[in-house]
Amino acid sequence: MPFVMILDDRVTNRNIFAKLASSIADDVRVQAFGDPAEALASISHPIPDLVVTDYKMPGMNGAEFIRRFRELDGCEDVPVIAITVYEERSFRLAVLEAGATDFLLSPVDHAEFVTRARNLLRMRMQSLIIKSRANTLERELEDSERSRQQLMRDSRERMAQVIDTVPAAISAYDRDGRCVFLNSHAATRIGVDANAAIGRSAVELIGEEMGGRSIALDQMVFRSGCALPTFEEDEDATSEGAESAVWLTTKSPLRDSSGAIIAVLTSSLDITDRKKAERHLVHLAHHDALTGLPNRTLLQDRLRREIVRARRGDRIFGLLMLDLDRFKNVNDALGHHAGDELIQAVGERLSVTVGEDDTLARLGGDEFAVLLADIPCAQSAFDMAERIVEAMQEPFSISGQDVVIGASIGVVIHPNDGDDVDNLLKKVDIAMYRAKAEGRNVYRAFDQQMISVARGDFTLEGELRRALMNREFELFYQPQIDLRSNRIIGAEALIRWRHPTRGLVRPLDFLPFAEETGLIIPINEWVIEEACREAQSWRAQGLPELRIAVNLSPIQFRNRNMAQLVGDILRRTGLEPRSLELELTETILMHDVEEVTAELRELRRLGVSVSIDDFGTGYSSLAYVKKFPVDRIKIDQSFVRNIATDPNDAAIVRAIINLGHSLGIDVIAEGVDSLEQVEMLRAEGCEEAQGFLFAKPVPAEDFIALARADAAIARSA
Ligand code: C2E
Ligand code: MG
Ligand code: MG
Repeated sequence: MPFVMILDDRVTNRNIFAKLASSIADDVRVQAFGDPAEALASISHPIPDLVVTDYKMPGMNGAEFIRRFRELDGCEDVPVIAITVYEERSFRLAVLEAGATDFLLSPVDHAEFVTRARNLLRMRMQSLIIKSRANTLERELEDSERSRQQLMRDSRERMAQVIDTVPAAISAYDRDGRCVFLNSHAATRIGVDANAAIGRSAVELIGEEMGGRSIALDQMVFRSGCALPTFEEDEDATSEGAESAVWLTTKSPLRDSSGAIIAVLTSSLDITDRKKAERHLVHLAHHDALTGLPNRTLLQDRLRREIVRARRGDRIFGLLMLDLDRFKNVNDALGHHAGDELIQAVGERLSVTVGEDDTLARLGGDEFAVLLADIPCAQSAFDMAERIVEAMQEPFSISGQDVVIGASIGVVIHPNDGDDVDNLLKKVDIAMYRAKAEGRNVYRAFDQQMISVARGDFTLEGELRRALMNREFELFYQPQIDLRSNRIIGAEALIRWRHPTRGLVRPLDFLPFAEETGLIIPINEWVIEEACREAQSWRAQGLPELRIAVNLSPIQFRNRNMAQLVGDILRRTGLEPRSLELELTETILMHDVEEVTAELRELRRLGVSVSIDDFGTGYSSLAYVKKFPVDRIKIDQSFVRNIATDPNDAAIVRAIINLGHSLGIDVIAEGVDSLEQVEMLRAEGCEEAQGFLFAKPVPAEDFIALARADAAIARSA
């Protein structure tokens, strides 16, 4: 309902104006005042839609009234009509300046009053409607913006939750190596609060070594724009192939809408749980179900460890083997249940007798063993054997009956009686049987006359022969990377010897000896066949074609018709010849040039490729390589190691790369373990690289995981 305020100090005028205003429309509400101050004080909600004011009033003139009225909340654009006297121009100007919308001359023409007032009121009502529409629209817009932002916040939160539930550690680092994102798995993995990690560098978060490597790999992705799969082992990783936590890690570029790389996303799949499950199985496999004591396998492990410790610390230890006397009688007379009870009771009594640091194991049946770690002299072991013999003579109470048994014990001392597990176990067994034979309830120390050991059994040559027979050799695979695409293009197969007591033995610790004795020939034939078979199985598992590089020994090369051997193996395994590369060293080239060249030609005719390993370390001059038909040269790691720091090595590497290219031969660098090296090699045009920066040599299953990750990256690119 429109509201008109009338202000005039003269009652007659006031009444006339009020009446005229009421006639503007049916629903107009009119309020008339005689005093300007009172009129101003009355204004609250609703404010007037039109004001008609006289100019000349006592106390406050019309101009002053309008000025004050305009200052009130919401009154800035309410139309105001001022009534002035015609002759007085200064009044008219004053009211217009003070903010009057219109004025009427006194004496007022009634029709003009009504018309002007109606026009202004109509405009006022229209503007109010427009304003209220605009307000509604604005509110609606604000509401929808708010809900849009809420939606985005929600979806971002949900996204973060989803990323947190992915069973992988996911993080992202920017170009300066600062963390920009970390999911909860990644935070847990490195032991920080996810928010606190933002903005910190990888070195701060995961330490100099791992952080440095991660930054180097990130930089590779920034510069190449290509994703990169790698392997990481946790710091507590002991040696290669040991049961350490392995992370399968993929690094991929994160781009903004313009395509520029803003960060590198690292997602690592933790396979620690798998390893833990394996360890649990190992625990089960290492304990005896009846007594809960360590079993034979665990005893052997402990023996192995003890041998290493004793060697290092120049210490001795003892091993006792114990067999119960007359156990069979108990079993037969009282039944198996009683037999089990007796075995448990014996286990308990032995536990009390032997020291806490010693290992008491049940080997099976009624056989127990005690490993006495770190004893001062052999006599301590004999004393312990004596105490056990005595303890075993006390009767046992089994199923309500007193049972008397006894024990025969054999004793060996390391290192006097032997230096490896098999040997010690064999001898302690012999000593124990001797004790039994000598009337039971006694212990016997092993002495050399008890057995004549064929000395050859324990030489390295014997061990290598046995290793071949017992399949103790394994191949590890080290990926080779194409420096232009960061893709895995193949692997070098590297031999490892899983020695039953010495653990994983590296090739340089036994290959020289194998070469001396000629055993390298059968060993390496196994390597070629195994590598080809493995590579063919990758194809069968749907992996892309990968090149497998195998190292050949110069001796093997000299003594055999290699082309025939390799051809046979390729046929047997079904591997495409182009997937096989043979690595030869320069020393091969130093021999009969004609013969070697002919042999190499034969090999290449088969379709396999040939590379020269450790290039630069031999005596052949660089130009020499021209004479030989080879596909690739492998720059030796001794040059690669220092290319960033030693100008001589850098010059050699540059020369090798240039030489290779001028002969149309590809170049691969080995032993690459830093980003500086990669950058320099890439700058010089080196095609491929291999080294710890990308991955150490890993077991076949781990290499397959890596190759799969690489293939997945390629598919998603
Ligand atoms: P190689 O053919 O030059 O193999 C490269 C060696 O460098 C491997 O040592 C590998 O683990 C190591 N390596 C790779 N990347 C890096 C790195 O970034 N830094 C460092 N410090 N080392 C790196 P591995 O496996 O101990 O092999 C040593 C050598 O034994 C081989 O040198 C090769 O000459 C010989 N070898 C290995 N397997 C066989 C085989 O099956 N047959 C023959 N005949 N020789 C083999
Ligand atoms: Mg090699
Ligand atoms: Mg090499």
